[in-house]
Amino acid sequence: MNPASGYSRNTHQELTDLLDAVTEYAERRIRMLPPLDRPRTQEDLDAALGRTVTPGGIGGSEAMRVFVDELAPACLSTDHPRYLSFIPCAPSDAAVVFDLVVGASSIYAGSWLEGAGAVWAENQALRWIADLAGLPERAGGVFVPGGTVGNLSALVTARATARRQARAGVRPWRVAATAGAHSSVASAAEVMDAELVGVVGDADWRLSGPALRATLEAHGPETFFAVVATAGTTNFGIVDDLASVAQVCEEYGLWLHVDGAYGGAGLAAPSVRDRYAGVERCDSFIVDPHKWLFAPFDCCALLYRDPALARAAHTQRAGYLDVLTEAPEWNPTDYAVGLTRRARGLPFWFSLAVNGTDAYTAAVERTLEVARFAEAEVVRREHLELVRARDLSVIVFRRLGWGADDYHAWSDRLLDEQLGFVVPTAHDGETLARFAVVNPATTEDDIRAVLDTMS
Ligand SMILES: *Cc1c(COP(=O)(O)O)cnc(C)c1O
Repeated sequence: MNPASGYSRNTHQELTDLLDAVTEYAERRIRMLPPLDRPRTQEDLDAALGRTVTPGGIGGSEAMRVFVDELAPACLSTDHPRYLSFIPCAPSDAAVVFDLVVGASSIYAGSWLEGAGAVWAENQALRWIADLAGLPERAGGVFVPGGTVGNLSALVTARATARRQARAGVRPWRVAATAGAHSSVASAAEVMDAELVGVVGDADWRLSGPALRATLEAHGPETFFAVVATAGTTNFGIVDDLASVAQVCEEYGLWLHVDGAYGGAGLAAPSVRDRYAGVERCDSFIVDPHKWLFAPFDCCALLYRDPALARAAHTQRAGYLDVLTEAPEWNPTDYAVGLTRRARGLPFWFSLAVNGTDAYTAAVERTLEVARFAEAEVVRREHLELVRARDLSVIVFRRLGWGADDYHAWSDRLLDEQLGFVVPTAHDGETLARFAVVNPATTEDDIRAVLDTMS
């Protein structure tokens, strides 16, 4: 930095050196087969690096060295083909490359006034998702950091709407969801001081209309402001019975939010599209392009059937914001919790524009094909047992004869040997193995290699 120049930027030579170092590294990382890498302890990093934030600065080449040699290898590569834990993130080349452009561009994407071009493009990407879900022309929303903020923002809108429409003296405070709903739904309820009421899943572990109706009747339907259905649970990839749930929501005049943070991407895949029947009747919907739609972190598409209801719930008002809030244009910030926002939908938009939506369909189908293979291999191998038939691209299975310690030791060994990152999950108190396949670079050979380590 060179404050003496009156403009706090680096000198010409410093900038050239920084650009060389950063672009060289970025290009190398983008082109390579990523290493899996491994975490290091706080003590280990402290000992190796000491203080990196100092009054005088350590300089560009040293800071880059610290990152390249020490910090980056202490971060797992979620785009490694054998990173099968949680929900991986495997962005397309176009999306990753364009993320660099977004970083270089200082775009404020909260308002149309400041970020019209970015907002326009983000809205086209949102429109593609709205069309996949069968939402009407007036549907719209915003890209938020993740499913957690997406679920919270949708539920805040649902409650504001329900309370405005409720009979005098009635202030609905409950939200209904199954046990399979993501932890962020419970977290949203906690933040909102709302009560989350669990609905018993059906024989196939899905949220369905009859069980929902029974729960609503048991607690009093007028005490609820929303129902959360999941289109692809995180642990098992289960898609709720959206049509029967939507039917009950319509009968009671209840807001239906569909959480497709992980599984919403399956809407692009004809082979599983019929599982989502009824999604077009939702009031709000989320999908995380950073999960199964090949965008970099952090990116969740939040859509509303009637965006005006979200605006009414979320628009922040202040004298210094009047020039924005009194304008008729689309201000993304009005549709969710949060004011300042990065144009985080742009890498996703760029990749959609570059590759075309057919490429997305093909890529999602490819991951489903590999998941289908994994399921068949589990069924075929005698010492393995499928826990539940697969809906999407998550497979949960047990290794017969193993206890919790065996799964954890196996998982640690895989990472130690840099063979894969596959952490166990749990269901009903039982430790189990789980694969989430969302990376089109994950092959049948990768699945076979990991399963071979379980014999
Ligand atoms: C991942 C996930 C979330 C939370 O999304 P974040 O982007 O991690 O905040 C919510 N719901 C479901 C179903 C998920 O899989």
